[in-house]
Amino acid sequence: MADDILPYGRQWIDDDDIAAVVEALRGAYLTTGPTVGQFEAVLAQAVGAKRAVAVCNGTAALHAACAVAGLGPGDEVLVPAITFLASANCARYVGAEPVFVDVDPRSGLIDVEHAAAQITKQTKAIIAVHLNGHTADLARVRALADAHGLIVIEDAAHALGARYRDSQIGDCRYSDMATFSFHPVKHITTGEGGAITTSKPELAAALEVFRSHGMVRDASQLRHPSPGPWYYEQQTLGYNYRITDVQCALGLSQMRKLDAFLARRRELVARYDRLFESVAGVEPAASGGADTVGAYHLYAVHIDFAGAGLTRAAVMAGLREHGVLTQVHYIPVPAQPYYADRGADVQRFPGALAYYEGILSLPLYPAMRDEDADRVVEALARVLGGR
Ligand SMILES: *Cc1c(COP(=O)(O)O)cnc(C)c1O
Repeated sequence: MADDILPYGRQWIDDDDIAAVVEALRGAYLTTGPTVGQFEAVLAQAVGAKRAVAVCNGTAALHAACAVAGLGPGDEVLVPAITFLASANCARYVGAEPVFVDVDPRSGLIDVEHAAAQITKQTKAIIAVHLNGHTADLARVRALADAHGLIVIEDAAHALGARYRDSQIGDCRYSDMATFSFHPVKHITTGEGGAITTSKPELAAALEVFRSHGMVRDASQLRHPSPGPWYYEQQTLGYNYRITDVQCALGLSQMRKLDAFLARRRELVARYDRLFESVAGVEPAASGGADTVGAYHLYAVHIDFAGAGLTRAAVMAGLREHGVLTQVHYIPVPAQPYYADRGADVQRFPGALAYYEGILSLPLYPAMRDEDADRVVEALARVLGGR
C-alpha cells in the first residue's frame, strides 16, 4: 500500500518476524510441531489464563468454544446485535440459535438488562463481545449467567491486552472461555489464526480434540484397550482446525511486540480523542467506563452525518480522496437476510440501530505516525465542513 494511503487497520511485520518464519520453514515441522505449544504458552501467560488452544482462525475458535460448551439444537445463545457475523454464526454451526441482544447506543457494548429480558428455558450461553477493544460489563454478565446457569464465552477478537477491573481479558475470571483472532488487522497476526483461552483444563482438553477430527490418542482416555502405538479413537465429531508451526512462529515473534503495539495504539487514541474535542459533529465511541482499560482494536467515531448534510457514503468517499480509508463496524447482525429469514427483526434493536447510524472506523494501527492521525482529523473536519 502506498505510503500516503491510510487503511483503517493493518499489520506490522518487521525483519524479526520474517526471520522467525524463515527459520520455521527450514525446520522439521510445517504443521503441528513444537512452536504451536510455545505460542500457546506465551499467549496463555500474557493474558493470565491457565491454557490457550490455538486454531486456524478466530471463527474456528468461536465454533470450537460453542462445541465444547455442549451447545446444540434447541439451545439459545445470547449474542449482541452489533458484532462481526462470526459471533452469531458460531451458534448456528452447532445447531443452536443466536438470540440477539440490544447494545448501548454510544459504546455498542451488550446491554445486560436487555440480555436478561431475552432469557428463556432454552437459553444456554451468552457471548460477550468486547467491541472496539472496550470491555463488556463482565461482572454483570457473569451475575446474569450465574443466576440462570449460562455458559459465558467472550469474543475477545478486539481485545487482546484489554483489562476489566482486576482481570486481564482472556484470563476467564468472569467467563468459561475467551476467543481471539490473529487476522492481520487485529493486535497481532499469524496471517489467519485464532485461539481459545480458558482456566478449565477439561475444556482445554476437549478443544484440542475438537481441533483435530475428534481424535484421541492419550491412553488414559481410550474406550478400548490399545492394541499398539498406531491406535487412536474418534469419540466425538471434530474438524481440521489446526494452526501451523509456520504461523505460530510468526505469532511468537509478534507476541514480543504486543506491549509496544498496545502502547502505540493507546497513544494514538489519546491524540485522536484530544484533537476531536474541537471538531463539531464527531464523537469517539464510548468505552466501557471506568472499569475498563481498552485495547483499541478499532478507533470508531459517531458522526452527525445529518447535521453535516452528508451521507456516510459521501463522507467515506471524501475521506478516500484524502487518502484516508474507513470502514463500518458493524451492520447490525439481525438485519442480515440470513437472520431476518430466521425471524430476526432489526427494528427491535433501537440501540444497535442508533449505534450503526453514525459509526465509522478511522485508521488505527501501531505503525501510524502522529502526523498520520493529525491528517485523518484534518481530513474529516474538512469533509464535514464541506471543504
Ligand atoms: C475478526 C473477528 C472474528 C473472526 O476472526 P477470524 O480470525 O477473522 O475468523 C470474530 N469476532 C470478531 C468480533 C472479530 O472482529
